[in-house]
Amino acid sequence: MKQYACHKCGSTDVFLDERANQTALVCGDCGTWLKWVSKKEIPLVKRFIESNKEVNNG
Ligand SMILES: [Zn+2]
Repeated sequence: MKQYACHKCGSTDVFLDERANQTALVCGDCGTWLKWVSKKEIPLVKRFIESNKEVNNG
């Protein structure tokens, strides 16, 4: 599976920030803007975030 990690602090606690026309991937730990996520990639990021939550809760 694709991994999404902050290039600044290395955190995998990331979230999607939906803006007017584009969706940004932002680090949940340090708030760094990581990249624009294409419509095609959004489901992949969501899946990553969901599976990440399960790991953190366990
Ligand atoms: Zn970060």
